[in-house]
Order: sequence, then structure tokens, then C-alpha cells
Amino acid sequence: MNGKLALAGLVAMALVAPAIAEPAFKAGIATTVITPTEPMWMAGYAFRNKPAEGKLHDLYVKVLALEDPAGERLVVLTSDLVGIPRSLAEAVAEEVRRRTGLPRERLMLTVSHTHCGPVVRDNLIDMLDLPAGEADKIKAYGQKLQGWMVETIVAALADLKPAKLSTGWGTAGFAVNRREPTPKGVVIGRNPAGPVDHNVPVLRVDTPDGKLRAVLFGYACHNTTLGIYQWNGDYAGFAQAYLEERHPGVKALFYIGCGGDANPLPRSSVELCQRHGRELADAVDAVLAKPLTPVAGTFAARWALLDLPFDSLPTKEQWAADLLSKNTAVRQRAARFLKILDNGGTIDNHYRFYPVQVWRLGDDLLWIALGGEVVIDYNLRLRNELAGRRLWVAGYANDVMAYIPSARVLKEGGYEADSSMIYYGMPARWAPAIEDKIIAKVHELVKEVAPSR
Ligand SMILES: [Zn+2]
Repeated sequence: MNGKLALAGLVAMALVAPAIAEPAFKAGIATTVITPTEPMWMAGYAFRNKPAEGKLHDLYVKVLALEDPAGERLVVLTSDLVGIPRSLAEAVAEEVRRRTGLPRERLMLTVSHTHCGPVVRDNLIDMLDLPAGEADKIKAYGQKLQGWMVETIVAALADLKPAKLSTGWGTAGFAVNRREPTPKGVVIGRNPAGPVDHNVPVLRVDTPDGKLRAVLFGYACHNTTLGIYQWNGDYAGFAQAYLEERHPGVKALFYIGCGGDANPLPRSSVELCQRHGRELADAVDAVLAKPLTPVAGTFAARWALLDLPFDSLPTKEQWAADLLSKNTAVRQRAARFLKILDNGGTIDNHYRFYPVQVWRLGDDLLWIALGGEVVIDYNLRLRNELAGRRLWVAGYANDVMAYIPSARVLKEGGYEADSSMIYYGMPARWAPAIEDKIIAKVHELVKEVAPSR
């Protein structure tokens, strides 16, 4: 072989070799600040009696777009919001589909469930006794938010470039089951013996040469250390901020798991909120310091909407009696449903749009996303029934219409089973059948995305 040919051979090898070593996945990241610029009502607590008065740090929507070797995409949006109502989620998904062709099942819209973020239109609206003018501000902010979400998703898709993906688990211990049994029934308190999941699922995104670009992580716990009048992302906001400080240029994204019945304890001060945030950031950093499991293979996604049944609905007489309640939420809900009945309408005994989403992220990781404030029993049951699979379960995903109690929680009663339905403007508590219905749909979709196992 002469020198020229040898050189040509080397060049050919050089051209081929990177193609073999090149990661076959792509990732794109985009973020947008969504902190309201004018004083606005804050979401999540009925006791709020004035608008926000400043911020501890900014609120964000963040988007991670992923593409597998076959060109199939998955896009997850995280947000410092209490919940995304169906009206907003579907408007965003439709515009994204129109502009990018991304089908609904490949877009996961999640929140952190911070209670120090803005009121989002149509979400938990019966909870609030708003002064005049506030509704207009909420509407205007909702429109802006919708645009920010769409633009951030489009920007993340435009940012797709070669990436290495890997996953792992950490743990953080501050989530405590909050359903405390008392002689008067279950109250929101502290139940250290109750079920929780302290796992911290982590998705790591690197450049092809191993430089960290983004880290996405979850935790199954209410994001409710604080109820102050300064915008902030609560423990999840601090955890993301600490990770971004420790890794300059890196984006940290948080989604909440099935934390419907867990609280960050102890709570109620900025110091405790920062402590929980630091514990969660430390848990993520401990995972990043270890060798992780590379994502290999392809993606798959499925989506379904379920009809979830309510228990028996109140009679017209019961609604009329509710109009005399001292509780604003009870009165507002009753007035709304009575108006429907007075106009000759009927009240549906189902919620017709419960979203169940299942992703297969590579060959072996399943990522299940359920709507509503899902209690931990769903996570524990799925992990038990899908034992042997690597499984993440997000709650509060794609539509936060109400709490999603398990059959056990419905039987025991308490806020997650009963009074929360008033604040969400639902006509009655859920029927116990919802648990089996949701779990059965998850299994059906899991079989479709991962038929081989
Ligand atoms: Zn909640």
C-alpha cells in the first residue's frame, strides 16, 4: 500500500469512526422565565388574601426535547406552576402539533406544584375569593403563559443536537405521608408510618464528549414548604437553582411524582425550604457522580383519555342548601352547578378526559405520566405489578383536574378524598372504581410500548 492510499484509508476510517462512536440520540433544551411582572394572585392556598409582593427567585417553564436514532421524538415540559388545566394543556399541544408535527402522545406537560406561583386560568378556581379585576389579570397571564409554553417547546426542538442519555436513582428523605389518622378522621398532618417513595429518578443529558448539558429529576412530594407572598418554586425551585449554580450552563428540570399525600416536613420557613432543596440537589449530584445506565434502543409513546366515574351526585336540594354555606368554595361550586340545572342541563357523572401517558425511554425504562394530584398508592402499586421493570411515575401531568385518591384513601376519607373536590369544582367525590380503571389502562399501554416483556 503506498502512502497516499494509506492516508486515504485513514481518512476513510476517520470519517467512519466518529459515526460509530457518535451517540445516536439528540437532545434540545430551552427555558423561559414566566414570573409575573405585575402583582397577581398566587395559586394553591385558600387563605390567600392579597397578590404576590415580589420574588425569591424566578419561575420557569423548561423543555427537554429528545430524539431517538430512528428520529422519534419525546418532549417533556416542566414548570413552576401549581397545575396545568386541560384547557391550557390541549391548547398548547394543538399549537405545537400544528407548528412542529409532534403528536399528543409525545408531549408530556408537567408541573412542580409550587404553591408560590401564579393562579392559572380554570385551575382550582373555586378555591379563591378574588377581588374585582383579578380575573382579567389571570386571563391575560394565561394567554401569555400559553405562548411561552409553545415557544419554549419549539425552541427546544430547534436545539436538538447529538447527546448521550443515561439514567439513575437517588434518594431524598424529606417527603412524609401527611394523612394523619385522628379520632375525628384523617387530617392533613404527619403520618411517618404512612406510605411514601423517597426515590429520585434522574435523567442525565451529556454532549457526545461527556459534558453535562441538562439533568431532569423527579420527587413524589407536595411542593408546599412555603405559603409566602413572594414568587418562588418552593423546594423544587431551590433544588433546580442549586444544581444550575453548581454546574454553570447546565439546565436542571423538575417534575413531581405521585406526591398527592406527602408533604415536605418540617416546613413553613424559607430556611427549611432551602434545606429540602439542598437535600434534593445533593441527591441528584450524588447520582451524577456515579456511573449511570446508558439509554439505548428507541422511544415509544402512548396516550389515552379515560372516563372516570364520580360517586353519586348531590341532588338539586343539596346544591340549594350549599348556597347558604359559610365556605366561599362551597357556595361558588353550588351556584355553578345550580345554574346548569336551572338552564335545563345535566351534570355529567364522569370526568371524561383523564389523561394516561406511557413512554418507553430506550429499551428498558418506562415513564408513566398520570393526570391529577395522584396519591402514592398508584406509584407503589404500579412498581409492584411491574416489578422487574425500570419505572418512573409522574403525577400532575397533562391535566390537574383534582386529586386522584386510591380506593384505600377514598375509603379512609380526608382532604384528598373529599373536601379537595370542592376546591377543584368537581360535583362529587370519585367512585372507588377509578383506581382499577387507571391501573388497567396503564398496563394496556405498557403492553403496547413494550410488547417483548
Ligand atoms: Zn396539592
